[in-house]
Amino acid sequence: MYSVKEIFYSLQGEGAQSGRPSIFCRFTGCNLWSGREQDRNKAVCDFCDTDFIGTDGQNGGKFSTANDLCQFLATFWPDASSQKPYIIFTGGEPALQLDQALVDQCHSFGFEVAVETNGTKPLPEGIDWVCVSPKADTELVIESGHELKLVYPQSLAPPDRFEHLPFQHFYLQPMDGPTRSMFTQDVINYCLKHPQWKLSLQNHKLLGID
Ligand code: SF4
Repeated sequence: MYSVKEIFYSLQGEGAQSGRPSIFCRFTGCNLWSGREQDRNKAVCDFCDTDFIGTDGQNGGKFSTANDLCQFLATFWPDASSQKPYIIFTGGEPALQLDQALVDQCHSFGFEVAVETNGTKPLPEGIDWVCVSPKADTELVIESGHELKLVYPQSLAPPDRFEHLPFQHFYLQPMDGPTRSMFTQDVINYCLKHPQWKLSLQNHKLLGID
């Protein structure tokens, strides 16, 4: 059984795949915060702005099998497209639910599979694009992938903790909130001093698209 908060078709807003048409599948639940405001002060990850509780978002629900979920995901891709559907599993923490059966079923449907994870839980084999976004002082289990995207600043997760890891891309993304413009300047300054890192903006928020 897979519990999904919401599914929608949009453009990826962040990081190396920014601008790419994508089907987002947001799983319910995270291992670093309950998602309830009253628990935020004891959360490991305390700056989250995502609603990942329940299955009541747009097109959310419970799916008994990987086949059921894949059949539903396929309906979001334009019929006439010759491109493989690009599915981004996110959350919450997708590694709590994304299993080998679902990755394999996605591939048998001809999907390209991406994941955005906090990196603290093991992932199934064969995911086509792995984006790890470390949080606070958590220990990474996923220490390699295609993209490491770090929300900045996090006092317990400075960029130099991760720069030796074997990722293809290293992104810093300004923490959202009232001080975002100040953090954006901080990220720009950091990237200019440390060219391994690139600026990631949350374009979907800047443009006001879902
Ligand atoms: S790890 Fe991600 S989903 Fe979980 S609380 Fe932090 S930002 Fe939110």
